[in-house]
Amino acid sequence: MPNISRPRLIRFAQENIRPDSLLAIALRHENLYYGTLWLAFDHPHLFPPDEVRFVATLASQAALAAANTRLFLNAELGRQRLAAILASTPDAVLVTDQNNRLLLANPAAWQVLGLGMDTGEGQPIEAVISQPELLELLRSDSMEKQSAEVKLPTGEIYLATASSVMAEGQIVGRVCTLRDITYFKELDTLKSDFVSTVSHDLRSPLTLMRGYATMLEMVGELNEQQLGYIRKIVGGVENMSRLVNNLLDLGRIEAGIDLQLELVPVHDVVERVVSNMQLEASQKNIRLSSEISQQTIPLIEADPSLLQQALQNLVENAIKYTKPAGKVHVQVQTRQDRILFEVRDTGIGISPMDQPRLFEKFYRSAQQNSKEQRGTGLGLAIVKSIVERHGGQVWVESQLGKGSTFFMSVPIRQPKKEL
Ligand code: ADP
Repeated sequence: MPNISRPRLIRFAQENIRPDSLLAIALRHENLYYGTLWLAFDHPHLFPPDEVRFVATLASQAALAAANTRLFLNAELGRQRLAAILASTPDAVLVTDQNNRLLLANPAAWQVLGLGMDTGEGQPIEAVISQPELLELLRSDSMEKQSAEVKLPTGEIYLATASSVMAEGQIVGRVCTLRDITYFKELDTLKSDFVSTVSHDLRSPLTLMRGYATMLEMVGELNEQQLGYIRKIVGGVENMSRLVNNLLDLGRIEAGIDLQLELVPVHDVVERVVSNMQLEASQKNIRLSSEISQQTIPLIEADPSLLQQALQNLVENAIKYTKPAGKVHVQVQTRQDRILFEVRDTGIGISPMDQPRLFEKFYRSAQQNSKEQRGTGLGLAIVKSIVERHGGQVWVESQLGKGSTFFMSVPIRQPKKEL
């Protein structure tokens, strides 16, 4: 800088020595600018190309270091944020590695599992967790999200949901959250108790009402209008009785009553259902038939009255939702270790929108011709509960306007209970 007035843009503090030559190189990395590297001499100096190259190399190293620092600070900030979020979530969070060691447990998890501050991390999960359901959930290598209810010694009930952590197509651990559902469980029990008490207490007055209403015509002459009113009363009472009975049945099955297992002749179950329903079918001019394939294994291990109830509900629906002059056919086959019951009708069918929800409690299709039928919306929920208690499945195939087929697949043998 032979001419002092030339570098006007650069200002030097009074106390500093004025440089006579100056080299400035931008610190850049991946199109980001991090600063400038200055090199100054207090005497005139020409910078030869190799010197410039050397300083440029230094500058690019410095830029790289600056870029790394920024990346590290960002990562650290992200980590701190995540740690703060985990620390303040009210739900317990557990993270394990692929060797089933506890990688992380947030303060909510320490509290739920009764751990002291910071204990547990790095230890095998068996050393930290004593609830078998939770251990099983954490040890599973399923790719799907899994849930289980975990009961703590304090009586609290948690819903644990775990899923696998994937990295480059490999499972590298599991992450599990625990949510307190004690309140909902209590509410659910309260609701079930309430429904079963009310339905139980309603049963006797309903029987009484039905009895006296039907007896009215026996004790004196009634005119047509009075008879019409009585029929309406009896119809209403029968509807209520059906609802009450369904609620009680569902309550019993869901409460986990023990299955009264017997070796039941499949033939008998089908025959009983068909003969129970024959009158209702012929009143509607519906042809009710059944067929048991030759290879069907004759005895199934099941609770006979529940199995019969499930099949009966399906046949009852098939008759109910089929127009006069239609057909209902019950077919039974053996499929490996299961018996497949099929109830096929030529009825009104079920829209694809309704199909997934049919087996829910109180769900009734919004179709007009379905609504004309009396019902509680509990029949299929009962079928589902019964079949699932036996370790089986139910499903439906249907085409609107053409008919429906309901399937129940029930294992031939029930697993032995451990004592
Ligand atoms: P409910 O018959 O008392 O209403 P369900 O649980 O037995 O209750 O059946 C639920 C709904 O499923 C019915 O309201 C009806 O819309 C539909 N559904 C059941 N079975 C059939 C069938 N075989 N054909 C057509 N719709 C059916």
